[in-house]
Amino acid sequence: MTTYVFDFAEGNKDQKDLLGGKGANLAEMTNLGLPVPPGFTITTEACKAYLSTGSAPDELAGQVCEHLAALEKAMGKKLGDPTDPLLVSVRSGAKFSMPGMMETVLNVGLNDESVQGLARQADNERFAQDSYRRLLQMFGKTVLDIDGELFESAIEDAKSAKGVQADVDLDADDLRGLVEKFKQIIHDQTGRDFPQDPREQMDLATYAVFQSWNSPRAILYRRQERIPADLGTAVNIVAMVFGNLGADSGTGVAFTRDPSTGMRGIYGDYLQNAQGEDVVAGVRNTVPLADLEKIDKKSYDQLLEIMSTLENHYQDLCDIEFTIERGNLWMLQTRVGKRTAAAAFRIATALIDEGLIDRDEALRRVTGDQLAQLMFPRFGDRSDGKKLTKGMNASPGAAVGKVVFDSPTAVRMAHDGEKVILVRRETNPDDLNGMIAAEGILTSRGGKTSHAAVVARGMGKTCVCGAEELDVDTKGKKLTAPDGTVVSEGDVISIDGSTGDVFLGEVAVTDSPVVEYFEGTLKEEDDLVQAVDKIITHADGVRRLGIRTNADNGEDAARARRFGATGIGLCRTEHMFLGERRQHVERLILADGKEEREAALAELLPLQRGDFVEIFEAMDGLPVTVRLLDPPLHEFLPDLTDLSVRVAIAEEQGKSNEKDRKLLDAVRRLHEQNPMLGLRGVRLGIVIPGLFAMQVRAIAEAAAERRKAGGDPHAEIMIPLVGAVQELELIRDETEKVLATVAEEQSVELDMSIGTMIELPRAALTAGQIAGAADFFSFGTNDLTQTAWGFSRDDVEAAFFARYLEGGIFGVSPFESLDVEGVGRLVRIATEEGRAARPDLKLGICGEHGGDPASVHFFHEVGLDYVSCSPFRVPVARLEGGRAAVL
Ligand code: ADP
Ligand code: MG
Ligand code: MG
Repeated sequence: MTTYVFDFAEGNKDQKDLLGGKGANLAEMTNLGLPVPPGFTITTEACKAYLSTGSAPDELAGQVCEHLAALEKAMGKKLGDPTDPLLVSVRSGAKFSMPGMMETVLNVGLNDESVQGLARQADNERFAQDSYRRLLQMFGKTVLDIDGELFESAIEDAKSAKGVQADVDLDADDLRGLVEKFKQIIHDQTGRDFPQDPREQMDLATYAVFQSWNSPRAILYRRQERIPADLGTAVNIVAMVFGNLGADSGTGVAFTRDPSTGMRGIYGDYLQNAQGEDVVAGVRNTVPLADLEKIDKKSYDQLLEIMSTLENHYQDLCDIEFTIERGNLWMLQTRVGKRTAAAAFRIATALIDEGLIDRDEALRRVTGDQLAQLMFPRFGDRSDGKKLTKGMNASPGAAVGKVVFDSPTAVRMAHDGEKVILVRRETNPDDLNGMIAAEGILTSRGGKTSHAAVVARGMGKTCVCGAEELDVDTKGKKLTAPDGTVVSEGDVISIDGSTGDVFLGEVAVTDSPVVEYFEGTLKEEDDLVQAVDKIITHADGVRRLGIRTNADNGEDAARARRFGATGIGLCRTEHMFLGERRQHVERLILADGKEEREAALAELLPLQRGDFVEIFEAMDGLPVTVRLLDPPLHEFLPDLTDLSVRVAIAEEQGKSNEKDRKLLDAVRRLHEQNPMLGLRGVRLGIVIPGLFAMQVRAIAEAAAERRKAGGDPHAEIMIPLVGAVQELELIRDETEKVLATVAEEQSVELDMSIGTMIELPRAALTAGQIAGAADFFSFGTNDLTQTAWGFSRDDVEAAFFARYLEGGIFGVSPFESLDVEGVGRLVRIATEEGRAARPDLKLGICGEHGGDPASVHFFHEVGLDYVSCSPFRVPVARLEGGRAAVL
């Protein structure tokens, strides 16, 4: 028999798969002896069974009965008892926190009778009616699927009938009226009455929580956060404690450190006489947690002590939910809290300094994505923008975009390529789409723990929240600043998530301090840079993977070197044939016979040589892998249609021009249906005599020149798009001859390795043979992905990837993160068979995946020698290479 239900005392924090994060941590706190209301957890297994069969597993009801009986015994009350009811909350809780995505129902067990009992026991009629209307509201919304607006507007009506602003101004009679109203809404909307049976309430709420796993917004959130879709949620049944019993009660949230900066301090919000979400929903203004000291010193001191217990126990920043019931403190939730990228680095190093964790652990706790965020530009000179106001710095970054006031518009405009800032009074889970689409989020209400702030931090998106001076009119699609400036939909604003500043107009951006640190131009070291330095230095120390860069010119090469690259893994040569040099390529293609062809190549030679000299100098002492010409030649020629028109017009006017006509012939001849699969790569080298030889000569002469100038060049020659070893052998022969000739001419030693890209499935599958002619392999994972999947990136990405992502065919584009199962398998085969044939074979990768964290981990695991990525991703790859070694 499967056990589907566990008491809090039976679990611990490492059982998140089975108990969900909330359940596992409630169990952990219970076992730490902290004041957690008793309860039990229904496992994710039960949820999965429910979702796959449509009903709860047979054993569940009985197991819940047993645990409920134990809970009733512990509390000395029975669920929904008419004279003294036990009430419970039914709370969702998945393995990974999904803030606000799924459902919770509070005060389960209240009905027309037990509400009386509750009132008598608490000696507080208002409280009992308030609790009941909350149950009706939450149950109606989440279990019965009734539009929440109906309840909200009934509350608004009650408040305005009475002429009051806040929910706390409604008295017992008003609330009793609302209870009747809510029951009527439920009856009208569902055709049946609110279920009075407490156990039925509990079971229905449980199933609703199960189902909320598959709500559209939960699905969207998981896709965004790359959370697997098959985990399911647990359900926690927790004895209620009441923060809405009066001024000596309340509810709050707290962080053991500032989640946006990582600094120690007292961070959180508290709200008197309130229950559950009130504190984050912005129903009334909260007070800063520090004010609790004045309100209830005993609970405050106890809370601080618990917070320090939790930090020491979890050895990390924790976030906490608590409730105070008539002076008694209760812990309702904790978890290792989400944090900004800067906070992640600061906290990790602070914990090293405090002796709580070691360097390896610190490295595990930061990610390459976080480092990439710290390298985003920030606002520099702010004088371009007019400052409108300042809100709270909820999630850092510098975002510029057109103002939109609703999520559908944000999505639509972003889809059309516009940058937008989503402006709301406050956000709710239905805004997720818009938040994903926006560059940044601005709200006029809510603190650092509001929905907008929490979700934006989780996504690494810029957010300014609680900009209370702004009058946001979402219906009228405008906002009004304190000085009277009106900003309408489509106007550009700039928001600074690090300071909370909001500007009208576009503010220019500059390098972040972390980029200045890598560049070596930082004037004043700040603690964030020190944290980054400490962790990346450790990553370099433990890393096995080498990090190279993709660079085609001296400037990029030099920058990548400053950023920590130890060589070039891919130096493309096609850029070197563009611009003015196009004419030489044209001449090469149009050449009539050997003489003309050689003349054209001779003109290209010195230009190429100059390029290489510059690059070898920037990478002096480090390897530089030069890839011979790869793209189809027609990329260097005029467009077929343009040229046809030009020639036709010229002929019409009797001014026909011999060169253009020849060119048109060539363009027609070279035109291909599928250029990606056409005459390119090694095929060019074989078909166009002298082309690769010229490039090799340029490389060799450049190396000789550098050597004579006292330099230390290390060129490696790489042949693209090889599918068969015979292709490589032909080019290799030619290459070796040229190298020998130049070495003799220049009287220098030139020992250059010659290798190939592995970017065709056939190459991967015959890697054992190819290794016979290659000193190294470099996986071209962009082309390998295209050829393995059989789609050309430029054609398909915009056309249908959105559908594929929606349909779950892949969770993330295979061009962004390596498709480990398919393309990765090819990489693995080629690695194993290549090395078996030739143990000293050097292996690297130079596709865009070289800078993608998940892919870097795969390349580490497969045993490659290095990854190569764009200069700006080099620090990310260094960090992730180190993390791969310690994870
Ligand atoms: P979420 O995952 O969205 O935070 P929770 O399950 O934590 O949802 O619950 C929603 C709110 O209700 C939280 O503020 C929580 O502290 C409060 N709450 C949950 N269970 C209880 C309980 N047994 N007594 C009092 N408040 C509760
Ligand atoms: Mg919670
Ligand atoms: Mg390629």
